[in-house]
Amino acid sequence: MQKKIAVIGGGIVGATASYYLARSGHSVSVFDSGNGQATAAAAGIICPWLSRRRNKKWYRLVSEGAAFYDKLLADLASDGLKTDAYARSGAIILGQSADYIQEVHDRALERREQAPLIGSVAILKGSELEKAFPPLANVEQALYVGGGARVDGRELTKTLLEAAIHLGGTLHKGNVSLTMDNDGTLSVLTPDGPQKFDAVILAAGAWLPQLLRPLGYTVDVRGQKGQLIVLQTEARDPQNYPVIMPQGEIDLLPFGNGKTVIGASHENDKGYDLQPDASVTDPMLEQACTWLPHLKDEATTDIRVGTRAYTSDFSPFFGSVPGLQNCFAASGLGSSGLTSGPLIGYLLAELAQGKESSLPTEDYPITAYVKSTNR
Ligand SMILES: Cc1cc2nc3c(=O)[nH]c(=O)nc-3n(C[C@H](O)[C@H](O)[C@H](O)COP(=O)(O)OP(=O)(O)OC[C@H]3O[C@@H](n4cnc5c(N)ncnc54)[C@H](O)[C@@H]3O)c2cc1C
Repeated sequence: MQKKIAVIGGGIVGATASYYLARSGHSVSVFDSGNGQATAAAAGIICPWLSRRRNKKWYRLVSEGAAFYDKLLADLASDGLKTDAYARSGAIILGQSADYIQEVHDRALERREQAPLIGSVAILKGSELEKAFPPLANVEQALYVGGGARVDGRELTKTLLEAAIHLGGTLHKGNVSLTMDNDGTLSVLTPDGPQKFDAVILAAGAWLPQLLRPLGYTVDVRGQKGQLIVLQTEARDPQNYPVIMPQGEIDLLPFGNGKTVIGASHENDKGYDLQPDASVTDPMLEQACTWLPHLKDEATTDIRVGTRAYTSDFSPFFGSVPGLQNCFAASGLGSSGLTSGPLIGYLLAELAQGKESSLPTEDYPITAYVKSTNR
């Protein structure tokens, strides 16, 4: 039966949920303010397998999330939508010591047994390294991981939302809020007045607390400022250069046509602030130039700023909002939300259709982070 479903938030989670709901024949209304959106600002590295983090549930979500891209792209292609927003370009990992490179190499081989998508794994030196990424300087050896990928979050969500609209959905730009009626049902307060839906998905990223607070909820999610630099160089870099992941905070992503992204800062103390701050980005650029000296003389074309959502134990969650019928939410995707986000959006779409989620919701329990203060 066709349902009327609202999706609040048009980042990677909301856009993917909207696409799959519209694809299943439901009537979808997407509401998105776009302000501070993490997806549009994000760097876009998809290479979760090398993390030292020991949380198995988180690892399952990000590794299955990375693999989910194959399904997403195949589904879009079967709907006649080809996108080059995603490329499995490979990843080059840099480290401060040979021991570090060896340690990551061994971890990659061990994890490849469960995650064949990791692909080829090799320590590169000298001419091999130069062949893999000619502009790279001041590096003696590095690890190459063939399954690493990059995604342009802004482009991908645009494609997903266009697909949802093509399938009958509607997109409404601007902020909305929620209200509870006397009969205990939820309304979405839009500029055109309150609207009722059979189901509501809250994909509001770092703004989930603001959305649920008026209904008497506390939400363990805080905003974290992230800044990155987009540089335009001469269009000499081929599209398929690997992404570069040095030890530490900075990543380097060649996007082809001379576009290189350097990202990203993690500024907990700046929360929802969206102002570019050269005292943070200038040192990032300087550090990046030690590996890619040709960037030094190029003009900065853009500083992108977005707000990541974090929970106090850094774990993402999704599921049915406790105490609200037919209302589902996800948040807390942190630094890896472009990796896990499409899968989480798909899982929310399953829940909103009354289906079982393909991943157990109890492993990512919304009740640990979203609490009603009414009872
Ligand atoms: C600088 C930076 C670099 C990153 N790099 C990577 C990376 O390399 N790899 C990776 O995997 N992840 C990365 N991430 C993380 C990833 O981008 C996020 O985790 C992910 O995009 C979150 O998606 P989301 O859909 O949950 O939230 P968002 O993308 O933030 O979308 C939420 C949307 O909801 C809208 N909204 C909120 N409240 C309302 C309301 N009341 N009414 C209407 N609209 C509303 C917001 O405006 C926003 O558009 C990065 C993030 C940043 C900021």
